[in-house]
This record gives sequence, C-alpha cells and structure tokens, in this order.
Amino acid sequence: MYDPPMDIAYRFGDPSKLYLNVTNRCTNRCGFCIRYHADGVGGSNLWGGSEPDLDTLLTAVEAMRGPEPFREVTWCGFGEPTYRLDLITAAAPYLRGASRSIRLNTNGHACLIHGRDVLGELAAAVDDVSVSLNAPNRRRYLELCRPDSESVAATGSGAPEGQPVPEGSSANAGQATIAVTPGDPGRESAPRDFWEAVLDFLTRSPGRFRSVQASVVGAVLSAEEIGASRELARSLGVELFRVR
Ligand code: SF4
Repeated sequence: MYDPPMDIAYRFGDPSKLYLNVTNRCTNRCGFCIRYHADGVGGSNLWGGSEPDLDTLLTAVEAMRGPEPFREVTWCGFGEPTYRLDLITAAAPYLRGASRSIRLNTNGHACLIHGRDVLGELAAAVDDVSVSLNAPNRRRYLELCRPDSESVAATGSGAPEGQPVPEGSSANAGQATIAVTPGDPGRESAPRDFWEAVLDFLTRSPGRFRSVQASVVGAVLSAEEIGASRELARSLGVELFRVR
C-alpha cells in the first residue's frame, strides 16, 4: 500500500498561520493525541515518512508560498518538535521577518530529550511558546500522557529518526535514563523526570520567550483539575492558560 510522505508545511484554520510538522517522534503517548485517531488535520497528512533536513523544510515552506504571507509560523505537528532542535535553530534566520512571529508548541521535554539545557537555544529561535502542562500533578500527568523512557534512552537524542513511538507500549514510572552532560552553560544537569521537565521548562520560560502559555485538554480533566492546573501554571509564573 502506498504510504505518502508526511506534509512538512501545512495550514489549518486561520489562513494567516503556517504550521511546520518535522517529526513523528514524541516522548509521550497521550491517550487523547489526535495522531492515534487520524493521519492529519485540515486535509494534510502529518503521519509517516522521513524527517526533513533544512533544504527540504525550506522547499516545503516555499511550496506554500511562504513564509512572507504568514503572520505566524508555528512548530507543531504529529510529534514533539524539539527533537529537531537542529532544524528549529537553523531555520530561524529564514523564518524571521519584521512582523512575523515564530511559535513553538511543545510538551516541555526538550531538555530531557537532549540531556542538557537547550532553553537558551530555543529562545533564540522562537518568539512565543505554548507548553502542554496537561495535568495538575505528576500522578495525573503519567496517567494521561504515558511518557516513554525509551524515547530519550541512552544518548538523549531519542528514537531513530522517522520512527513513531508505537501506541500501547507499557508506560513507565516517568523516569528517563538520559546521559546528562555536566557543565552545560546555565545548568548543572537536565531534569531526569518527565513531569519535572515540564515544570522546569515552564518555570524558566518567562523572561526568555516573548509570551509563555500553559495548556490542558479540557475533555480529559475535571473542572477542579483544570482549576488546579491553572493555579499550578500561575505559581510557576505563567499567566497565559488555555483549555484546548
Ligand atoms: S505530547 Fe503531543 S504529540 Fe506527543 S503524544 Fe502527546 S499530544 Fe501527541
């Protein structure tokens, strides 16, 4: 059966926004993730195929007649974009424009994935960030997001490129076996726990990015849990909160 390559650049909803889908790898296996129920959104296929290099990404953006017509470009697809920190960093000079914003939708595991502090690199390449907090506490986060320790095993660079994390693998206790590089600028070590990594990312993001938003999925949380998640975000210094 023909398996078409995933769309790298795509539009969805607001025509002034362009989205970039650059990996299917993810540290989580959220039960509510759309990629387990659909191949894409808005007529675009976001699942399967090889991850792009910079030339392929730029060609895909140009094919959408971008980036000039778009008010905002967002790193967001069927996977955790920060696996491709190299691409996010390399594409920033091309994507930036006088009035164009670069946004990152992330699960907040970037430092865990890379085994070092990468917040500064992301902040240099991205204006606004939305972090999937997803839960009011660690127990609920592990239940809902089912992080996979194998996704950041050994080298900190995750599973092989282009290999989606299979659904249904056994969840772990939220601990990752990453190789932390000592002496990285700005940090002694990277978080070793998925929930801790999200909180760490949110805590250190205000002041680095122009705007910082925490988000949860309303359909899987009670009203009390949504309220507690909002309060948690606020306690971390994040005022923008979205129920998606
Ligand atoms: S973090 Fe995002 S991409 Fe990854 S499984 Fe959860 S919803 Fe899907």
